[in-house]
Amino acid sequence: MRPHIRASVLLWALLIGQVLREWSFHGVEALVRSPARRALGVSRRFGDDALAYFTERLDPGPTRRALAATVRRAKRNKAFDGARWIGLAVDGTGAGRSGGGGCSLCHPVKDKQGQLLGYLHHFSLISIVGTGLSLPFDVEPYGPGDSEYAASQRLLARAVAAVGRRFADYVVADGEYATAPFLHAAGDLGLRVVARLKDNLPELSAAAQARFTGQAPTETFEEGADRIEAWDAEDFDPWETLRWATVRVLRYRQHKPDGTVIEAFWLTDWPVREVGSRALYRMAKSRWEIENQGFNDGKTRHGLEHLCHHHANSVLMGWLLAIFALTIERLYRLRYLRRGTHHPPTAIDLVRLLRLHLCPPRPPDTS
Ligand SMILES: [Zn+2]
Repeated sequence: MRPHIRASVLLWALLIGQVLREWSFHGVEALVRSPARRALGVSRRFGDDALAYFTERLDPGPTRRALAATVRRAKRNKAFDGARWIGLAVDGTGAGRSGGGGCSLCHPVKDKQGQLLGYLHHFSLISIVGTGLSLPFDVEPYGPGDSEYAASQRLLARAVAAVGRRFADYVVADGEYATAPFLHAAGDLGLRVVARLKDNLPELSAAAQARFTGQAPTETFEEGADRIEAWDAEDFDPWETLRWATVRVLRYRQHKPDGTVIEAFWLTDWPVREVGSRALYRMAKSRWEIENQGFNDGKTRHGLEHLCHHHANSVLMGWLLAIFALTIERLYRLRYLRRGTHHPPTAIDLVRLLRLHLCPPRPPDTS
């Protein structure tokens, strides 16, 4: 009546389900009740209710430590050796819509008239960026009384403690993080900061506009098919609460082949003598990796958006296992399988190949 199932069996089944893009508990149940179970390395069958019971009670600590150990090992094994600097990106998102409330992470979603439309769940994500290999490795949820800004600071501190202070060189973030407390917290963790400069810093923003407008670019370079004009100066005054001696501001105008121009301002404490305009431009652009290879891939190709079981701890474990699957899949596909001269398979080719190898060959029909 009350079967005992080892935690490692259930956790492995959830993780391999994420890799195979069968993240729903019904999907995992179907896999472990099918002839594929042996090939999946799952020692026994169980139902979706066992996964609900299990994830409600599962401590996220060991999974977080396993993620940190995985990226540390990737660095030791020279997975990032093509990159001179290793970046971290932090950002928040909403995922896992629900018609009804019911957990401590539920944020009510209302329309303009104040009518309740449903509930959404939020978390901050941290990912390794700027190395050619985007590896998300921790999440921090935030409920309705909390904020993305606070969650991201907790996340950054825990993540740096887990991978070590010398693991990464910089953190890149959007304009809402360009505040003295966040910049100081990152500096205290031994990281340089590259943050978007927007109108929430009106004085610095106006000073940079005034300085660069009408001035010839300090540098022009090609990035792929784009032509980049860069304006770069490191002697801007810090705002009142910022303890930096000066602020460096980069303005770029990215000219795409179709004629569109993207302009943005970024601030940093990297000195010019260590990181030139072009390298700083790339660091600023590495922020997109958390949007594209983090949130977008995680939501459309893995189970980041799916609410398997509506319970705060189950939701958190679902997110952690989804990013763990992303990180394992990328290390295996883009580094392990890349050995030799052949091209690595695409993500969809690899998942098809894995699925095709799941079922044992049928015995020959001798009737
Ligand atoms: Zn909820």
